[in-house]
Amino acid sequence: MAYNAPEGTADMLPAAARLWRSTVDSAAKLFGTYGYEPIYTPLFEITDVFTHGIGEATDVVGKEMFVVRSGENYKRALAEGDDSKLKSKQKLSLRPEGTAGVVRAVVQHNLVEQGAAPAKLFYAGPMFRAERPQKGRLRQFHQIGAECLGSTEPTADAEMIIMLMRFFEKMGVPMGKTRLLINSMGDDNCRPAYRESVRQFILDHEGEMCEECRRRADTNPLRAFDCKNEACARVMENAPKITDHLCDDCREHYEQVKALLDAAGVKYIEDPTLVRGLDYYTRTVFEVQVVEGMGSQSAIGGGGRYDKLAEIEGGRPTPGLGFALGFERMVLALEAAGTLADSPKRVDGYIACVDPSVRATAFDLVCAARDAGLLVEMDHQGKSLKSQFKMADKLGVRVVIVLGPDELAQGKARVRNMSTHAERLVDIAAAKRLLAQFGGNLVGGGAAPVSIDALFDAEGAE
Ligand code: AMP
Repeated sequence: MAYNAPEGTADMLPAAARLWRSTVDSAAKLFGTYGYEPIYTPLFEITDVFTHGIGEATDVVGKEMFVVRSGENYKRALAEGDDSKLKSKQKLSLRPEGTAGVVRAVVQHNLVEQGAAPAKLFYAGPMFRAERPQKGRLRQFHQIGAECLGSTEPTADAEMIIMLMRFFEKMGVPMGKTRLLINSMGDDNCRPAYRESVRQFILDHEGEMCEECRRRADTNPLRAFDCKNEACARVMENAPKITDHLCDDCREHYEQVKALLDAAGVKYIEDPTLVRGLDYYTRTVFEVQVVEGMGSQSAIGGGGRYDKLAEIEGGRPTPGLGFALGFERMVLALEAAGTLADSPKRVDGYIACVDPSVRATAFDLVCAARDAGLLVEMDHQGKSLKSQFKMADKLGVRVVIVLGPDELAQGKARVRNMSTHAERLVDIAAAKRLLAQFGGNLVGGGAAPVSIDALFDAEGAE
């Protein structure tokens, strides 16, 4: 029986994989100019890292986490019928998002030393949520995210938002078709009272709201703002707004973030109902949505400030903030806008053999060209010369080197430029000498890359 990839997952075939790699490279380059360094944390963590950080009452943790069971723990859980006998450190889950793991790592390795500059980190990789799969909503999807720990300043918030918007812009997401929503969720000073007023509001309108929202009144009342149920949405339009309940410090912080965005020319819409799904946010939250063609999965990225998260993860009080963008959603947005840039496979040249007697020399030349950093191919299937040219055409190579027994007897090969059809006889030993000047170690550089066209100028070309 042949198997398919599990529901809600997708293979990244070479074209998509190339796009993912080039997107991550672009992110590394852009985020690098803002001082961000890469970090990779495990794909699974001790479950408490997520339940404590993101919050047990959130959908992401309460309904969508993939539990990891392994070896003896698997047997033990089977025998018990659940995980209750496992120690906390034996209870593991696949990461549903990147922030909690990064903050756990920052705390574990003390990356924000007292008085030191903020830690600026970015990551890229798969996240796992057991959601109901649909277009733009997967169970394994890919995020690129950034986290900045150690600053409460509104400039850090503005920088984070600007970096995200610049990234989307540089990737080709049409800015005219996106909207940036921002809000402040307050802090420990002002949010508890606000939360209570929303809870009371939901209880006052219980009869008009869905069962889930009635339950949320006690567990996570602010989530009612995200309810997809139309009746609930209508009720929540009149719910108390956080912006009317911010304390002076939070209000001042929010005003400064907005002023910095204004000065940078970044357009935004204030949305006092934007609460985002995770418990750890404080003060600034933001979300980038595409306005057309994405249906209900229109959010391509979002984030916010989480000044309490480091403490929740067992560390010293360390303010922080971050964002994550969804790679698959961004690709859908680029497709919808017709701006998805192809990142084609680059093949420089093809070495064709007139008959099998020259294959060993062809192989030797292929190796020399690869050592020089060129991407060259030869036939590995014993195909005819005609088929080899077809293959070279299909690969879109600029140059084909034809090796035939007659030319080889004189130490020569024929080099053909596939676009101009110009041909030259080139001395194979001279070509190899030329190639040998290039290459070097991939690590730490080496000589400048050679162009396949240089073969036309190999000493001894006629
Ligand atoms: P979140 O961590 O929920 O704020 O998600 C950040 C971004 O990841 C979203 O804006 C989406 O672009 C993307 N995303 C979240 N969940 C999924 C999913 N199940 N499938 C695909 N992309 C997702």
